[in-house]
Amino acid sequence: MMNLKLLYYGNPLLRRRARPVEGITDEIRELVASMIEVMKSHNGIGLAAPQVGYMVRIFITPVEGVSEQGELILGEPKVFINPELSNPSETSVEMNEGCLSIPKLYAAVSRPLTIHTKALDLNGHLFEETTYGYAARTRMHENDHLNGVLFIDRIKGKQRTVLEPELRRIKQQYKNM
Ligand code: ZN
Repeated sequence: MMNLKLLYYGNPLLRRRARPVEGITDEIRELVASMIEVMKSHNGIGLAAPQVGYMVRIFITPVEGVSEQGELILGEPKVFINPELSNPSETSVEMNEGCLSIPKLYAAVSRPLTIHTKALDLNGHLFEETTYGYAARTRMHENDHLNGVLFIDRIKGKQRTVLEPELRRIKQQYKNM
């Protein structure tokens, strides 16, 4: 296992664009296994490689969907390598989001209801899926990390302004971690 450290809001690496994975090497497999450990140890439901300081286009999430009762359906962490998102629905919905890199801050973000995702798995096989609701949201949230985008960037106007004091506090608290 690699000894990965979670990066927090304020770390400039979270603002950089990640590069494509060129081959699924032992190092990539080890990185993914270690990312799964980090995600589980922080009780996360998604993690992107830049959040642990690796600027490559990989994210993981166990979210498969939402039950009729509104509870998240979680499976084994699914690995997305060089993901490409397309066909966002015109309908958007607002739901609360959080991020392991921005501890304990939750805010409503508007995102498309459905998304199509194409990616490689850890065996290098291309797969495609169309997801809905919170499953779609996790893919869009994690894919944003690969482009240096954080969920707070998608909150505009007054709703964003009210988050600023808390964001400054988080930046200060985690700046040496
Ligand atoms: Zn995040």
